[in-house]
Amino acid sequence: MTQKLSSIIILLGAPGAGKGTIAQHLKDKYEVCHFSTGNLLRNEIQRGTDIGLKVKEIVASGGLVGDDIVSEIVEKNLTGAVAEGLVVLDGYPRTKHQAEVLDAMMFGKLKALIRVIEISIDREALISRLSQRLVCSKCGNTYGPIDGRSVCSCGGDLIKRKDDEEATVRERLKKYEEETLPVSGYYSDRLVRVSGDGAPDEVAQNVDKLLGSFGIERRR
Ligand code: AMP
Repeated sequence: MTQKLSSIIILLGAPGAGKGTIAQHLKDKYEVCHFSTGNLLRNEIQRGTDIGLKVKEIVASGGLVGDDIVSEIVEKNLTGAVAEGLVVLDGYPRTKHQAEVLDAMMFGKLKALIRVIEISIDREALISRLSQRLVCSKCGNTYGPIDGRSVCSCGGDLIKRKDDEEATVRERLKKYEEETLPVSGYYSDRLVRVSGDGAPDEVAQNVDKLLGSFGIERRR
């Protein structure tokens, strides 16, 4: 029996544009599988695996992990995820090469399933947003100062991520501009832009409208 594969949504946008918040919205309202390479890498680091030891310093400094390692963890985890339902890729692909590898994955079968949403936001707003955000140490959910929380809805403690210090944020933005912007160009035929400047609810509504136009409806 051939398995039905569902859509893959790629969320593009600078660090802090709101990809994590939108991914959480999609998880809550659409029953998607949230596939974050950042979370997968942090998990490898936490478990002290070979990959974790190799990437620890790179992730802490805001650099990009090598395409070979990222492709390895994506191949290992993505095939099962796409067989289960709607998948949201968060933080991947981050280079044009990663996008090419993804298009070629599973003998090119994934390519037709890919929809790309780019969340665009002003650069200085990003720096201020990222330097103030807190992340759940348990589930990776993110919160801004307006949320006024010290504990996540899952019960995990909120911490400041090491790579959210301002100097590291600037380094991550520089890397994003150099290496990830070309990914938007690569997807120009499949990419739709949503403004990330509004409140999270407003941005989420715009994403809902867009997904509706792709024929993807909310479950809740
Ligand atoms: P994120 O949680 O998506 O901001 O990712 C945190 C860090 O993990 C990044 O700053 C990179 O060091 C690394 N990382 C995550 N995804 C990728 C990727 N697709 N390619 C290279 N490095 C990545």
